[in-house]
Amino acid sequence: HELEQLYVHESVENVIPPEAFVEAFDDLPIPAELVGDGREYGPTDAVATYVPQPEYLDAGWVHCIRAGYDEFDTDEYEREGVPLTNSSGIHGSTVSEVALNCMLSLARLGHRYRDHQNDREWWEPPYERPFTLENERVCVVGLGTIGEATATRCDALGMDVVGVRRSDEPVPGVSEIFSPDRLHDAIEDARFVVLTVPHTPATDDMLSDAEFEAMREDAYVINVARGPVVDEDALVEALEADEIAGAGLDVFETEPLPEESPLWGFDDVIIFPHKGSATNRYHLDIAELVAENVERYQSDEELKNRVA
Ligand code: NAD
Repeated sequence: HELEQLYVHESVENVIPPEAFVEAFDDLPIPAELVGDGREYGPTDAVATYVPQPEYLDAGWVHCIRAGYDEFDTDEYEREGVPLTNSSGIHGSTVSEVALNCMLSLARLGHRYRDHQNDREWWEPPYERPFTLENERVCVVGLGTIGEATATRCDALGMDVVGVRRSDEPVPGVSEIFSPDRLHDAIEDARFVVLTVPHTPATDDMLSDAEFEAMREDAYVINVARGPVVDEDALVEALEADEIAGAGLDVFETEPLPEESPLWGFDDVIIFPHKGSATNRYHLDIAELVAENVERYQSDEELKNRVA
């Protein structure tokens, strides 16, 4: 079957303006249309969506507009023979800049000065508190698109960059690579531990009590991956017990982060409302990827970013 129609599910509004996204397909050889729930799909339909829905299993191809597709049941897609693609590959600079923003702030204290600015207060931090990222060790866990972009940027700032990855293939700017079973060796000397892995059974609660214990007391956790990669209760306990110094978090076990979460209350925890990929041209980046895959689909080529 050739594709005849691209449907954009309204759930894309979670991260991009749906109308602008549909407009970005003006030059596509097939029409694009914004749709809501309760529709049926067939083998000549492509769907671009944020949320999974059972009806999509009848479509010709489904594109998840997120990089993390952990909410989609890939086994089901494989069983039904429906290709599923995701949007990884486009978040290198956006998400890594959020990681860097947190790291720079935790080192140079922008977040603390801003807190005091709210009270028009010229605040002086303790002499020991500010430091430079230069010469500090960062451990980047998961060296895919976001991890590599983070590593390159940290290297450019003169940091000592190590990483965790399943293969030992070298990565530019990374001086040492640890396999996942050596996570503790990888993180124990790091001033920053940056999580850039997908959420899978293997990465669930990757950082928990034992890891926070293994980490330096002046270390910071940066999570721009997915909330459940960190055991959030264990993180709160580690922060309360001063087992680690702070965190920069873009993702949480429950989003939006509930008002009663203790994480809101720490001076050195920076909370981003899951805005790692937010840019004013995000819809264009995703549309470009989808358009390329429409072309590939029509010419029977392998789809880019196929995950099932
Ligand atoms: P990617 O697929 O390019 O990179 C993921 C990397 O993690 C791959 O190299 C993979 O081999 C590695 N990996 C997987 N399991 C691992 C394990 N157990 N130990 C070590 N490495 C492991 O994806 P990406 O675009 O870099 O995105 C990574 C994740 O970041 C996504 O899955 C998503 O959950 C999250 N993300 C968050 C935001 C945000 O807004 N904060 C935006 C995009 C993506």
